[in-house]
Amino acid sequence: MPNILDGAAIAAAIKLEVAEEVRSLATCAIRPGLAAVLVGSNPASQIYVRNKVQTCAELGLYSDLITLPETANTAELLSLVANLNSRDDIDGILVQLPLPAQLDARAVLDAISPDKDVDGLHPVNAGRLQAGRPALAPCTPAGVIEILKRSSIPLAGAHAVVVGRSDIVGKPVAMLLLAQNATVTICHSKTRNLGEVTREADILVAAIGRPGFITPEMVAPGATLIDVGINRISTREEFDRYFAGDARRDAAFAKRGSVIVGDIHPQAFARSGAYTPVPGGVGPLTIAMLMSNTARAARLRRGI
Ligand code: NDP
Repeated sequence: MPNILDGAAIAAAIKLEVAEEVRSLATCAIRPGLAAVLVGSNPASQIYVRNKVQTCAELGLYSDLITLPETANTAELLSLVANLNSRDDIDGILVQLPLPAQLDARAVLDAISPDKDVDGLHPVNAGRLQAGRPALAPCTPAGVIEILKRSSIPLAGAHAVVVGRSDIVGKPVAMLLLAQNATVTICHSKTRNLGEVTREADILVAAIGRPGFITPEMVAPGATLIDVGINRISTREEFDRYFAGDARRDAAFAKRGSVIVGDIHPQAFARSGAYTPVPGGVGPLTIAMLMSNTARAARLRRGI
């Protein structure tokens, strides 16, 4: 039977550690602070930001939620970021993506001080990661490494295959695996004979954004499968393709009209040695690592 890697439990453990770190920083009169910037009224973004602010409160971090109207322009956002860069009570700046189309997201993210870039998306932090001396690593990739390490999956010398090369997930997760001495292969939409490559993986990380894309025959028996994908499916045909015969999910589908599936076909999990479920695998780590990065930024900025 494959081992299910319980991301929710690992995230809870990390949050407890951050809360402890925050208590210890309080003895030096330091309270890590996160500024969360939300532009417009995208319902999903509102939920994400609310969860982040709520988690700050639970763990004892200070947070400041700043909302701007949908019509905000790039100059306004750049001026807000400049102000947050200069505020001493703010250690981390998070600009919730996606931004409305009229805004220059790249310019805004690049304006965040690298020391306060708790999403790890600034080119300076991407460069540090590439150079093997990460300060603030992107949250979801850092969460993937925490899952693997805390589940005692051997990384040194393992062949890790990452499918996806985005700046947010694929590339940084590959760099972090390399830093753990894995032998890393990065695949993307132009990779030839993808199934042959993925079948070589001891650890297969899927960050593609396509439901159930990694099928059972693309997986070596006993491999560790890390599914970063979050895809919502809402037709019965799609449901049956991934979850036929799964009574629990069927009930959820009937109730809500949709369910989430990852980038790995659920039938592939049966072949694995260990896997992250969707939901409840990689997803919960993202906020936990954001909190961890904010506490870390607070220490690094003060040379602690
Ligand atoms: P992107 O769309 O930015 O990148 C997708 C990557 O997949 C690209 O590198 C693309 O290749 C590759 N790809 C697409 N089609 C194929 C194919 N047919 N064969 C091989 N590779 C392919 O997505 P993200 O990296 O932002 O996100 C990936 C997934 O992770 C999504 O489902 C997203 O929702 C989820 N996600 C989950 C998070 C979490 O908290 N759990 C956080 C962030 C993302 P190419 O570069 O050649 O186009």
